[in-house]
Amino acid sequence: MRFMHIRTRFAPSPTGFIHLGNLRSALYPWAFARHNKGDFILRIEDTDLERSSQEAVDVIIEGMAWLGLDLDEGPIYQMQRIDRYREVVKQMLDSGLAYPCYMSEEELNKLRDQQMANKEKPRYNGLWRPELGKTLPPVPEGVSPVIRFKNPIGGSVIWNDAVKGQIEISNDELDDLVIARPDGTPTYNFCVVVDDLDMNITHVIRGDDHVNNTPRQINIMKALGGVPPIYAHLPTVLNGAGEKMSKRNGAMSVRDYQKAGYLPEAILNYLARLGWSHGDAEVFTKEQFVDWFDLESLGRSPAQHNPEKLLWLNHQYIQNADSSALAAATKPFALEIGIDTESGPDFIQVVSLLKDRANTLIEIAEGAKLFYSPAPSLTLEQIKENIPEAVIPALKDLVEALELAESTKEAYAASFKQILSKHQIKMPALAMPVRYALFATTQTPAIDSVLVVLGKEAAIQRLSKVIH
Ligand code: GLU
Repeated sequence: MRFMHIRTRFAPSPTGFIHLGNLRSALYPWAFARHNKGDFILRIEDTDLERSSQEAVDVIIEGMAWLGLDLDEGPIYQMQRIDRYREVVKQMLDSGLAYPCYMSEEELNKLRDQQMANKEKPRYNGLWRPELGKTLPPVPEGVSPVIRFKNPIGGSVIWNDAVKGQIEISNDELDDLVIARPDGTPTYNFCVVVDDLDMNITHVIRGDDHVNNTPRQINIMKALGGVPPIYAHLPTVLNGAGEKMSKRNGAMSVRDYQKAGYLPEAILNYLARLGWSHGDAEVFTKEQFVDWFDLESLGRSPAQHNPEKLLWLNHQYIQNADSSALAAATKPFALEIGIDTESGPDFIQVVSLLKDRANTLIEIAEGAKLFYSPAPSLTLEQIKENIPEAVIPALKDLVEALELAESTKEAYAASFKQILSKHQIKMPALAMPVRYALFATTQTPAIDSVLVVLGKEAAIQRLSKVIH
């Protein structure tokens, strides 16, 4: 390996809406750093003051914390490093790596129009670029220049992208990039280079919308005497319809998923598989993911967001979760729909009963309502409609049997069995009226388990109301 100590970063621009797919660009560099016992850094690229917001920063930081993507350094805000960027611009001017360019906006536009008319690619023509033996135009008065990087002439930039393979871009394609604006503020590509160098980043793992920036960044980096990192450009995440994910077409943020009752473990597992694979493993722990993660297994084609698969994964994680941890995670959702988990059956037992059938924590909370609602007050009409006269004798016997039964699922199941055989009826004929008498609904989990959770006394009380 070229680098002894791996250092990766996630460098989001906190602009606009941060959707789930965006956080994949945090997950992979995090996993790569953890796999290699290296460092993972969060850098907030907030120099676009108009579009950056604290709200977006919060979504990113909270989302990462929720997924357990821990940091070794950061968050480092680019806006707090402006002096450093200015310092490097000055060094580059002093050493002839960069130069002031006084071409006005109008001149630039004119140049571009001419080039377009000649069917040439628009590019800066190097008018103010100092060369040996070249006389520069007279410096106009009262004009603040931009600072341009002296891009190498001739040759090409080649890098071996860990995802895309070898990429070669001719230097003739690249003009002299503006690194500082007339007011001295540094530009985007320049800040990235200074940061990646200063932070000793060894692997840049980011979205492939940055492929075009890479040759420019490599050139500046080399000019500054730095060793370019290894680049891995991740293909985009598309939504189910094959479009780029965005808020407009229904993308959700990590916070939205949290509110919808998803578990962070499920989201992490899902994101991990969105563009990376390890054989045919679909469900794996965070530890396994870190253990298995490598750049070689990153996908080369766009990944497609699949909400059904995410829901399925969430179900897997819910079903297999430790009930007490799951109960703790479900509690806020229960509170939200007015369930007081302290007044009623043991919430852990309730959750343990419901988890096999739930896809989200909201579904568990909804299911738990049954056990925390007061006994139903059924009208005569409702009783007549849902509890057939003919089953009343069986219900009476059931109450008697329950009174004697031990408070276990097995004992309750035995009581049911005994009544079924005595009255020669089938389970649904007895269980449905029982469910209705207990909860005013026939939709409940297995009746013997329900009795354990609700408690024998409450059950007998409710049943007694419909048989007298
Ligand atoms: N700030 C860039 C973005 O949010 C990422 C830059 C990088 O990773 O180099 O797209």
